Amino acid sequence: MELEQFPQEIRSYIFPKHKGDQIYRCLACGNEYEIKELLYTCPSCGQVFLIYDRDFDQLKQIDGAVWRKIFDYRKMLSIPELKGIYLYHEFIGPTVPLDAVVYLGEAHTPMIEANRFLQEKLGVRFFVKNDGQNPSASFKDRGMASALSYINYLIKSGAVSDILAVCASTGDTSAAAALYASYLQPHVKSAVLLPHKKVTPQQLSQPLGSGARVFEIPGVFDDCMKVVEALSERYNVALLNSKNAWRILGQETYSYEIAQDFEYDMDNKAIVLPIGNAGNITAVMSGFIKFYETGIIKALPKIIGVQSQHANPVFRYYAATSECRQFVPVTVKPSVAQAAMIGNPVSMPRVIHLAELYNRLSGRQNVFVVEVTEQAIMEWELTANRNGHITCTQGGESLAGLAVAQKLGIIDKNETAIIDSTAHALKFSGFQEMYFARQFPSEFGISYKSDLINAPVLIETDKQDDSLQQFIDTSARAIAVALNLKTKELSKE
Ligand SMILES: *Cc1c(COP(=O)(O)O)cnc(C)c1O
Ligand SMILES: [Zn+2]
Repeated sequence: MELEQFPQEIRSYIFPKHKGDQIYRCLACGNEYEIKELLYTCPSCGQVFLIYDRDFDQLKQIDGAVWRKIFDYRKMLSIPELKGIYLYHEFIGPTVPLDAVVYLGEAHTPMIEANRFLQEKLGVRFFVKNDGQNPSASFKDRGMASALSYINYLIKSGAVSDILAVCASTGDTSAAAALYASYLQPHVKSAVLLPHKKVTPQQLSQPLGSGARVFEIPGVFDDCMKVVEALSERYNVALLNSKNAWRILGQETYSYEIAQDFEYDMDNKAIVLPIGNAGNITAVMSGFIKFYETGIIKALPKIIGVQSQHANPVFRYYAATSECRQFVPVTVKPSVAQAAMIGNPVSMPRVIHLAELYNRLSGRQNVFVVEVTEQAIMEWELTANRNGHITCTQGGESLAGLAVAQKLGIIDKNETAIIDSTAHALKFSGFQEMYFARQFPSEFGISYKSDLINAPVLIETDKQDDSLQQFIDTSARAIAVALNLKTKELSKE
């Protein structure tokens, strides 16, 4: 659509103009640092940052109704830089000029209403917003688009050159990092650290395919994270884990899109999402808070974080009464929600900070964390996918979390839930295979229900008389018998 065709009142805003004054702010000591360089933790106290815009209040001078129109009409522009996460440029990266934006097709993922069977089974109206439909097939692309656009801006402005981007990963961070870095080669190269045998073959193939240097480390994600932190402290590398606060900004767009998908009506809505390193729940809370503070949404939706019993430090923290809360990392056990199998989430201080603010702004408790079993995760994933979805095991975890929230009365009848399926089902098909073959190692604690199991049937034809016609006839007959098909009444000519 051409500029003259946009409504008068939004014409001057349709191309982002707000420059912003973004800084890193330490969540412990409150110190602020310029964003001229990449910083991950506070040089004075070591705590993680969030990035704030000192000029954020300027955005409040534009009416919420005008913002809603800006975002809705912006979708009609054919400007690639404004099609992905930077549709919301003013809210996530006003400092990053549009010509530095890296857009690889991320964001604007579909919101699909669950079918009747699933909604009746759960007793709640719900939708699945599938972030598996991103370029590297997980929500991590939102964060990488933000981090790499910022790095691209530093490169273009001559502040840095020849970046080596590194990350530790449960599989999806490395896929996304390697993809976005490879788009910027030769200026950006990437190296990823994976826990040996703790990522799926599909996830391993992704950074290899993107040309990253791939290192496998014995142990779990938390061990890889320590190594990569040491690398980023001692050497000249760019850390792409969600410790990097630029990641959080990009992932806020998941909230903005939900708001937009529901025409900004967030009354009686609940977002259900898995928690691993806790970057995503941080971003989702932060996103809704920004839209609420600027009057774009009138209510804050309920946030329900979900953890597996095998990796539940955040659940444990909130299960204690508020006076006794103390964060204690846990040692993880094997989990089918492997991408969230993290015992010491880097973003925990951000979660504590934002959940407190979120509840205060809501005027009631509005952030919850529930715990689910491995069995429930697996069964809900398989069930969702038998009903028209393509959810990953972490999506199954979200669904299992919705079921628990419903039982505990955290969610009630008049509410609509939005389930975050964080990656594509295909990345995690190995867990489905283990279930179908009844071959889970015992540490997962999975038992099998035959009605959830599926397997291919090999049609064998007699090699003796395999003329083409015979082959077709025997095969068709065997399939007809297996499916119990009735022969057609041939109409008489
Ligand atoms: C990374 C990841 C998670 C966990 O998100 P955090 O931001 O680490 O809490 C969940 N699901 C998938 C598929 C992931 O890749
Ligand atoms: Zn500090």
